[in-house]
Amino acid sequence: MSSTAAGPVFETEIAVVGAGAAGLYAALCAAREGASVVLISATPLAQTASYWAQGGLAAALAADDSFELHLADTERAGRALVRRSAAEILVREAPARVEDLQALGVRFDGDRSGRLALGLEGGHSVRRVVHAGGSATGRRVVRQLSALVAEEPLISVFERARARALWTDGNPTYPTQSGFDGDRTHTADSRADVDPAPARCRGLICDDGRIVSARAVVLGTGGAAALWARTTNPPGSEGIGLLLAHAAGASLADLELLQFHPTAVLGLAGREGFLITEAIRGEGATLRDAAGERFVDELAPRDEVSRAIALRLLESGERSVGLDMRAIDPAHFPNVIAALREAGLDPMRELVPVAPAAHYMMGGIVADLSARSTLPGLYAVGESSCTGLHGANRLASNSLSECFVFARRAVLHALSEEPSPSSASPAELETLQALPSPSPGTPVTREALWRDAGIVRSAEGLRRLLDDPHPLARLLARSALARTESRGAHQRLDHPKPDPALDQHHFVLTADGDGSWQAWA
Ligand SMILES: Cc1cc2nc3c(=O)[nH]c(=O)nc-3n(C[C@H](O)[C@H](O)[C@H](O)COP(=O)(O)OP(=O)(O)OC[C@H]3O[C@@H](n4cnc5c(N)ncnc54)[C@H](O)[C@@H]3O)c2cc1C
Repeated sequence: MSSTAAGPVFETEIAVVGAGAAGLYAALCAAREGASVVLISATPLAQTASYWAQGGLAAALAADDSFELHLADTERAGRALVRRSAAEILVREAPARVEDLQALGVRFDGDRSGRLALGLEGGHSVRRVVHAGGSATGRRVVRQLSALVAEEPLISVFERARARALWTDGNPTYPTQSGFDGDRTHTADSRADVDPAPARCRGLICDDGRIVSARAVVLGTGGAAALWARTTNPPGSEGIGLLLAHAAGASLADLELLQFHPTAVLGLAGREGFLITEAIRGEGATLRDAAGERFVDELAPRDEVSRAIALRLLESGERSVGLDMRAIDPAHFPNVIAALREAGLDPMRELVPVAPAAHYMMGGIVADLSARSTLPGLYAVGESSCTGLHGANRLASNSLSECFVFARRAVLHALSEEPSPSSASPAELETLQALPSPSPGTPVTREALWRDAGIVRSAEGLRRLLDDPHPLARLLARSALARTESRGAHQRLDHPKPDPALDQHHFVLTADGDGSWQAWA
């Protein structure tokens, strides 16, 4: 550590922001390569989406499964927007990451013959979801990885520290409001990072003034679904990493593509938005409307099930549909059953009131197949990134696998690059100290996003969002207005059908305010 008039500067090889699945694993992979790491996490462990994950992680491990089948399911769910090269990497590397997690001490659930027990979730044609503690997968994985991080001498943890801004060679600017709708510039580049990037990321500054100088910064700051009023996400998931990256010069993509989880609890005090894992539908739970009738294939991809529920609720004027779990073996999902009982409902005897809630952001910081952002020296992994892997609708349980597969790729790539000189002038550090934090979301923004950027949207509502005080809401509105079609999680009243011209096209917003369509190979 060195000290300047502007505050202490910590020097490290890799700075990781975020202690969810992606950040923890990135830090451990870097340390295993012998690199020093500073890991910065704003929230306690129990407030990461990773900790809350229930179902598990998808990997083609069963005898009746294959990479090809996992890829086909991922592409089918993603509605002609999945970037095949990224999905191929995911399906091929996920099994090795499961093995590595086991080697790191994560104990996944087994079947009677001692093999991994595999769950079935919506959109998967075979059983392929590896889980731990029934539906306590995230908790088990995060606890184990955190324990290893705490013991690792090469990793310094800044707990409850918030990255306030990224440190670049250039001059960071914060995104400004604009009514730009985007034109359709079609490019067929082999990499997503086609925008010119004048600066290099050299580190970051935390809210408490500590500066970290690093060979590379890896953002694992999670998604943004907590910016919607009705959400399954923990309060910290507000897309702060996206704003940090964009302010520093990195491009964002697919912001309009937000997945809604079909079965989030509604109207149970203390459990509002509590997610009931899709694996329960995989074991036979059914959805019932007000008349007690089934109305959708419960194991269809998420966008289809969420849309069916939203439309049924619009027709009936009800606020929720019923999830019938009465035939489920409670021993398989102990924490879900316990949570519902604590809220005063017995799911073994009565239907659980559920409705869709904002759940997962497919869009994020543009990242190539090594998780490089468009800003040299900056990597994005996990839910904060957008490799194009999930297309317009993430296949259930592909996201935890993505965290592990791409966190490792990011670190290996970052360590293979030539280190750049990291000394900074006192004036540069003073400038860094003066940078503001991105503002958190307010209830006004949350209500506005739920109303105007929910499952069902229109140009009129999206135009209102262009005036929202929150910069991410405005960027999202620009992207959603540009996508003049309905696809995956995103249903436009004024453009009810998919536009085949937009197949495989991602809407990319550069830091200098340009928006364009890109096709990623
Ligand atoms: C209820 C629920 C259930 C889910 N179930 C599954 C499932 O079964 N399978 C699956 O594949 N996916 C599931 N998902 C999605 C999956 O959990 C997430 O996509 C994934 O865990 C994201 O991991 P992450 O490491 O990218 O981010 P997170 O786990 O959200 O971690 C983000 C981290 O970044 C930190 N952070 C953010 N901003 C800053 C900042 N400025 N400075 C410092 N730190 C910062 C946070 O404090 C946190 O530590 C579920 C999500 C939810 C909400």
